[in-house]
Amino acid sequence: MPPPEASIAALRVSELFLSLQGEGPSAGTPAHFLRLQGCDVGCVWCDSKYTWDASGGRPHTAAAAFAELRALGEAPLLVITGGEPLEHLGIDDLLAQAVEGWPRVEVETSGLMPPPFRHERLHYNVSPKLPSATPRWEETWRHTGAWVAEANATFKLVIGDPPDLEDALRLIAERGLPRERVMLMPEGLTDDVLRQRARDLAEACKRSGLRMSPRLHVWIWGAKRGV
Ligand code: SF4
Repeated sequence: MPPPEASIAALRVSELFLSLQGEGPSAGTPAHFLRLQGCDVGCVWCDSKYTWDASGGRPHTAAAAFAELRALGEAPLLVITGGEPLEHLGIDDLLAQAVEGWPRVEVETSGLMPPPFRHERLHYNVSPKLPSATPRWEETWRHTGAWVAEANATFKLVIGDPPDLEDALRLIAERGLPRERVMLMPEGLTDDVLRQRARDLAEACKRSGLRMSPRLHVWIWGAKRGV
């Protein structure tokens, strides 16, 4: 096991930017984004395939990444995303440092690994995958029990064409996700697709009583990097 400083130094950073949190319970909040490199979940609709190569990006220490983010301006929220952040060695050390610097920290994860660190200011947006997204979808539900036990975890399920909605509602019930901590989010990278799916999903949310998550960054800026 490497010492904490060595594992933090091994972080590979894809992007650092200031924007608005586009998804989940804090959508609309100004946020610093720390996007880590590396993911092998393989979602067909992934909008950040440039993060998949774990050797891509640039090596960074947490302190240098945080300083670069601060230089962009202030924000009340730090979003640590990817890629799959929880596959990173040293992620627990990074999170421990992050909660000392921001009033709220959110981690975007597929749920492939169990929660690595717990803190009152640390929140997880967990997006276990549906069968249409990737052949590895079941692995992202493997630690559901641990995520349900993490009170600061919100489940964000990405809904595209049928049978995604049906699969999501079945898995929510089968795996016992707390409905008040579940959000459904439309999949789509163009205005037309996103608008139509959002309208369909809005009706489904009205019927099911589940919350809907926007994709503000796509609606505002389109499917671009660094926003
Ligand atoms: S888990 Fe996230 S980063 Fe990885 S392939 Fe799926 S959508 Fe892309």
